[in-house]
Formats: sequence, structure tokens, C-alpha cells
Amino acid sequence: SEALDGTDLASRMAVRGAEVVKRLMEMGTIVTITQSIDADTAQLAVEEFGHKVRRVSEADVEIGLKGEDDTIDALLIRSPVVTVMGHVDHGKTSLLDAIRSSDVASGEAGGITQHIGAYQVETPKGARITFIDTPGHAAFTEMRARGASVTDIVVLVVAADDGVMPQTAEAINHARAAGVPILVAINKIDRPDADPNRVRQDLLQHEIVTEAMGGDVLAVEISATQKLNLDKLEEAILLQAELLELTANPDRAAEGVVIEAKRGTLRIGDIVVAGAQWGRVRAMYDDHGAATKAAGPAVPVEVLGLSGAPQAGDEVVVVENERRAREVSEFRHARTREKEVARGAPLNLEQLFSEI
Ligand code: GDP
Ligand code: MG
Repeated sequence: SEALDGTDLASRMAVRGAEVVKRLMEMGTIVTITQSIDADTAQLAVEEFGHKVRRVSEADVEIGLKGEDDTIDALLIRSPVVTVMGHVDHGKTSLLDAIRSSDVASGEAGGITQHIGAYQVETPKGARITFIDTPGHAAFTEMRARGASVTDIVVLVVAADDGVMPQTAEAINHARAAGVPILVAINKIDRPDADPNRVRQDLLQHEIVTEAMGGDVLAVEISATQKLNLDKLEEAILLQAELLELTANPDRAAEGVVIEAKRGTLRIGDIVVAGAQWGRVRAMYDDHGAATKAAGPAVPVEVLGLSGAPQAGDEVVVVENERRAREVSEFRHARTREKEVARGAPLNLEQLFSEI
């Protein structure tokens, strides 16, 4: 089929041509409305508008408009990405450790794990869940500030012997602000002074209405240290994920966030831009430290080969060549600097000179 141009995309998405050109420019592609663009770039642009894309050939894309029935067969269910939050000492780290050690895929060899910021577990029924292994509100907020959709589901850990505390409330607010659904893990139910009902009661004051209270927020009573009901918690996560209808197309070029690869499949040799850094993927390691050649949607990997260290929450995209990588990287450098200037951050001399 014919190569696409901005006019084609605009008419298919029912937006103005100028908007398409502007969006492409923001992505680092400078074209006029009638200049042909490659299918990869077109796909990224279309997805920027929130639409779904199906590649019908090397050169063309089919656009499934927002809200339309999804007949796109290339999209597959992807595993949910989960962040654990809650008050200090309520058991976030213990829960992450317990879940990690329950991974059926790692089996006996599961003892040695790598801290790459996230890990994926396989549940007994074969479904997978990705956990961001840095609990903490700061990381969450920082990533959100960078515009990254960090997570699909927040697991709010509340100790049954302590109830809702200030950082519990803070976590609720963060999740709400990000529009991420909350699932409650009422932890430490093995403690003699545990009072799960009080937790459910406390949560009402923060407008978290659990199922037992007649609402629709899932809450699971667990013990992280005794490994009680971890399977139930995982089931609840998968149920919540099902409601969210998380999909991704593993055949498309990878796109993700530092800490979290979300869409597409990343391969060795791919040229990636991560934030303002870029490079060719030289090696990838999974959460068990094993070298891998490809990472599908929602699979966390450590990537070697970037020109410098990106920041948590930076967006990652695969581009078709080094020239494009350099363009996107330079564009993002410039944008970062603009933001700093707008915020009133002083420029150093070096920056001033590179500005001219
Ligand atoms: P974090 O600050 O939220 O990461 O909390 P930690 O995971 O570090 O746990 C704080 C303390 O609570 C530690 O001493 C844990 O051993 C203990 N703890 C965590 N989960 C449980 C549990 O399910 N039952 C009991 N009895 N203690 C727990
Ligand atoms: Mg901790």
C-alpha cells in the first residue's frame, strides 16, 4: 500500500492535520503534512492520540479508534504491573519478598534474584504479575511527575494490628491522583491483636469501601511472614487486572518506561531512546539475572548499552536507526532544559553555550 502521510493519519483519526504534525514534532519527527512517514512512526503517533493500531503490512497501519469495539487481533492480554504501598513497617518489603519466593517459575533456583527494580512472578495457574520492587511513595510520585504511567494496580498494605496510618492515607491519595485502582492487603493477620474489621472500618473514612462493607474494593487478609493467603491476593490482583482489560501487542516495537517495559517486545540490537539517553541494546538481563534476547510486554529487564543513565520514569522507545535516536535524544535534552528554565533553574555556563 501507499506510504502514509500526516493527512492520512489526520483523516483516519478525525483530528486536524496540524495536530498530527505537532504531535510528530514532539516525538522528534519533523515533517510537513504531505511528507510520507514510516509505519513505525505513524503507529507511535496514532497511539499518542490514544488510539489502537494494527499493522496490516510493513508500510501501513490500521487504526482502531478510541471507544470502538476492539477487533484488533494483534493485541494480547498483558500481565498487570503492581506497586505495593502503605505505612512504614506495615509489611511492604515482607510482602514483596514473600511473593517473590512464591514464584512457581523460579522453583528451587529461586534463591538468587536480581534487584532490577521490578520482578515478574508466575502464579500457580500460569498467569504472570509484575511487581515494582521499590515500595515507597517517593518513587511513585517522581515517576508520575514525569508523566509515566507507572503501574496498573496499587496494593495497599495495611497492618491489621495498627490500622490506617498517615502514610496509608498518603498512599491512597497518590493512587487516586494517578487514577490507579487500589486493592487492599490487610497484613499481619497472624498477630494476636490483629483486627481486620477495624482496618475495613478505618478505610471508610478515606472513601475506600471494601466488599465486606458493601463496596467494590477488593481486600484480602494476609500474613506476609507466615505466607498466608498470598494465592488469594494474587487472584485478586488478576481479577482486578481482568477488569482493566490490559492489552499489549508483542509484535510492535517496544515502548516502555525505565523500570517498567510495558508494550511491545524489546530485542537485542534494538536502538532505544530512554529519556534523553540512547543506545543499542547490547545485553538484557531478567529479574533472575539470566541473559535474555527478548522481553515482551510487562516483562522487566535490565538493559545494557545506553549512552548514559536515564532516570526512573523516563519513557523508552525503540527507533529505526541511530540518526533518529540522536534526534529524539537531542529533542528531549532541549525539552528538559526548557522545563528547567521555566522552573527558574539557573543555567550553568556550559548549558548556556550549548543553547546558542
Ligand atoms: P515495610 O516498612 O512496610 O517494608 O515493613 P517490613 O516488611 O519491613 O515489615 C516490618 C516488620 O513487620 C518486620 O519486623 C516484619 O517481620 C514484620 N511483619 C511483616 N509482615 C508481617 C506479618 O504478616 N506478620 C507478622 N507477625 N509480622 C510481619
Ligand atoms: Mg520496607
